[in-house]
Amino acid sequence: MNDFASAKAVFLDRDGVLNAEIGDYVWRPADFVVLPGVPEALHALHAAGYRLIVVTNQAGIAKGLYGPADVAACHQKLQEACGGIIDAFYYAPGHPSVSESLMRKPGSLMLERAIARFRLDPSQCWMVGDRARDLEAGARAGVRGILVGETEPVAGAPHLANLPAAAAYILRHDSARQA
Ligand SMILES: [Mg+2]
Repeated sequence: MNDFASAKAVFLDRDGVLNAEIGDYVWRPADFVVLPGVPEALHALHAAGYRLIVVTNQAGIAKGLYGPADVAACHQKLQEACGGIIDAFYYAPGHPSVSESLMRKPGSLMLERAIARFRLDPSQCWMVGDRARDLEAGARAGVRGILVGETEPVAGAPHLANLPAAAAYILRHDSARQA
């Protein structure tokens, strides 16, 4: 990849964006169900030169419900579903009731670590999430947000049905800007 291509990324919330929200912590691989169209959407973004970076709150670790190996097993399942094209996974294990963490969204430390590691230009990046706190984490790092799913709107952010719709929006938006 050349420098230009590696400067942009799509940050991805996990539950409700990449895999089905089950109304509880998703930590068993059996409960980790990749949503329809997600592998195709990720491939389209990857082909257009975007890094793909998952940023997920995993407070169940702080609460003792599961451990890092369980998170890794779910992420392995996601990588296998999409041919291994996800560049990095960041997760925030803390919860305010147990331990404060700048990693945890709406904190932006996960994004900032990836921005430094991959030398990203935040103004060329996007954050796709299904909660206001996802977009807030993006905004704190200078990254534009797209909200997906059946959720409360966030002022000023596009609100689309799902990740495939968000990927199409990103590709349309950025190709129009370059034209
Ligand atoms: Mg979510």
